[in-house]
Amino acid sequence: MTPKVYVNGKFFDKPDAKISVYDHGLLYGDGVFEGIRIYEGKVFRLKEHVDRLFESARAIKLEIPLSRSQMMEAIQSTVNANNKKNGYIRPVVTRGAGTLGLDPRKTTDPQVIVIVDDITMYPAELYENGMEIATVATIRNHPAALNPRVKSLNYLNNILAKLEGIQAGCLECLMLNHKGEISECSGDNIFLVKHGILRTPSIDSGILEGITRNAVLELARDAGISAQELALTRHDVLTADECFLTGTAAEVIPVTKCDGRPIGAGKPGPITRQLREAFHKLVRQ
Ligand code: PMP
Repeated sequence: MTPKVYVNGKFFDKPDAKISVYDHGLLYGDGVFEGIRIYEGKVFRLKEHVDRLFESARAIKLEIPLSRSQMMEAIQSTVNANNKKNGYIRPVVTRGAGTLGLDPRKTTDPQVIVIVDDITMYPAELYENGMEIATVATIRNHPAALNPRVKSLNYLNNILAKLEGIQAGCLECLMLNHKGEISECSGDNIFLVKHGILRTPSIDSGILEGITRNAVLELARDAGISAQELALTRHDVLTADECFLTGTAAEVIPVTKCDGRPIGAGKPGPITRQLREAFHKLVRQ
């Protein structure tokens, strides 16, 4: 079935879903987006994703022409129109069409788009045996430039990092922040396990506050696993017992190698496995 795409309150078949070439989302990456999963017909943490979308918009002074509840309805109605039981949702809000200059006041019509489609994940084998990541030279955006907490349409920082990761033969890459601490991967948050304690970079390490990250921290707390959010360095990665990544698309995926070196025993560890199973249970509740 051709996907039905929501554009400003109407549904269009995928080939007919279009916006202006003068849209500042296209010209300047001026807009915000989300990535959400549907599991067995239920949208996972819809409210949290919509709250983050509105916070991202607020941070760039973009007025979304819908209320939060209208946005939730728009998302749910697009899921229904596509009759999707399992899949991925991409809400996008752009600044709208304007003049060929940066001035956001000269844009008129913010565009609200919701795409529902299938999701391509990492190969299944990597979930069982673990994946390899590489530390890249491109640092994560300085929080005082474009704060990584803003999920903006300007993802070039992450794409440049991803290119380096691919060059190094890895499907995901580790980005440091401007202080040389680890921040996150191009599209995933990172977790380590050391002596049975779960550790992940704090928000002020310059990261996106991942919704999967928060879910995993809650699951760890429920399971009695202590968790720390703190500044971490590459040393902590190379000397960790376990490592895994979290993200809406990636879910929970073990990392068993970084920069060509095995992490811990070089295979997915017990806490990673436990949290991965708990996450799978949670999303299907
Ligand atoms: N960091 C970045 C840079 C991301 O793009 C994503 C994916 N949205 C994540 C982390 C994971 O966030 P979430 O769990 O909310 O998908």
